[in-house]
Amino acid sequence: MTVLAKNIQVIGDCLRQFEQRYNRPPNSVQLLAVSKKQSIEKIRQANAAGLVDFGENYLQEALHKIENLQKLGLCWHFIGPVQTNKTRAIAEHFQWVHSVDRGKIAKRLSQQRAGNSSALNVCVQVNLANEESKSGTTLQQTRELCDYIAQLPNLRLRGLMAIPEAVQNLDSQRASFKLLSLEFDRLKVLFPTMDTLSMGMSNDFEAAIAEGSTLVRIGTALFGSRV
Ligand SMILES: *Cc1c(COP(=O)(O)O)cnc(C)c1O
Repeated sequence: MTVLAKNIQVIGDCLRQFEQRYNRPPNSVQLLAVSKKQSIEKIRQANAAGLVDFGENYLQEALHKIENLQKLGLCWHFIGPVQTNKTRAIAEHFQWVHSVDRGKIAKRLSQQRAGNSSALNVCVQVNLANEESKSGTTLQQTRELCDYIAQLPNLRLRGLMAIPEAVQNLDSQRASFKLLSLEFDRLKVLFPTMDTLSMGMSNDFEAAIAEGSTLVRIGTALFGSRV
């Protein structure tokens, strides 16, 4: 068994354990493998071990991988900051975007998705602590952006995403995730297509699952450090 196949098994076991520990339904947390700066060969190996969903941050790198791995029928998620001049390629080559944080980007993605047979699945990225270094809309403006996205023809509003400040302690991690989770619960009532709470990475996915995450984005704990 390769190290990667072993890691996939270990992380899968952790997800199931944390679901139990925090009274979440079995298999309610999905694993998104974050493959940025990892090789095409590793993505092949991860797929052979059963993974289908992959997350990428850098467009050029991602397009190269998507083209190379076309035959595998993988599901590609764009999770990095979206620049205006990148929206067309993202709309054409990805199935998901987790990092929509303003109306202008949403509008372009919808326009440029036209002609594709399926809607582009999107999450609104929220900047929980209004950190200058991070993308994301404010919690206060999240509902307005959701309203706007919900009426765009070629987008499907699936949920919320956040990258909280990196802290080590489980309780502080939970406190940030809880803010996003509460907002998600409020919005879900208004937007029935919302089913995805994208939160939790290698160092904080236990806290995210405790607070209701439905999708964890894991890179280094699966693939090792990025080159
Ligand atoms: C890189 C990245 C991840 C994965 O981070 P790890 O700490 O390697 O698990 C998850 N989400 C986003 C948005 C990222 O940019």
